[in-house]
Amino acid sequence: MRLTNHTDYGLRLLMLGATAGPSPISIPGVASRLNVSRNHLMKVAQCLARAGLLESVRGPLGGFRLAKQPQDIRIGDAIRTLEPGIALVECMRSSEPGCPLVQGCRLPSLLREASRAFFETLDSCNLQDLVAGNSQLVRLTVAE
Ligand code: SF4
Repeated sequence: MRLTNHTDYGLRLLMLGATAGPSPISIPGVASRLNVSRNHLMKVAQCLARAGLLESVRGPLGGFRLAKQPQDIRIGDAIRTLEPGIALVECMRSSEPGCPLVQGCRLPSLLREASRAFFETLDSCNLQDLVAGNSQLVRLTVAE
């Protein structure tokens, strides 16, 4: 299982938002600090804003900040928002899979169970759990 860069960047933005508190984080600043594309990061931020996880702040010192308290953002929900309908294999992605084994294959139910367990673990953790008392992360992320 592998999360897309879009999701990975989204989680980074959310962690930065949680460490920054009410101060907006600047996308160009974060893009250069994380060494990722500014355009890509902006698209991710807009996706998170549409989903109600970030809000945009206008003005010369504007940017994005969390739209909810970090303890109200479960990591599993953030990933579902960034990567809706994660489907691990072809037969889970398509209603007419091309795989010839589909009739007798027992893998899909096992993979669905594994995916449920994956999200159960992620849902047991929220953004606050990732940043609270994490001075190393704060040091790496807050200085702009
Ligand atoms: S039917 Fe089985 S082998 Fe075919 S794509 Fe699905 S999981 Fe894979």
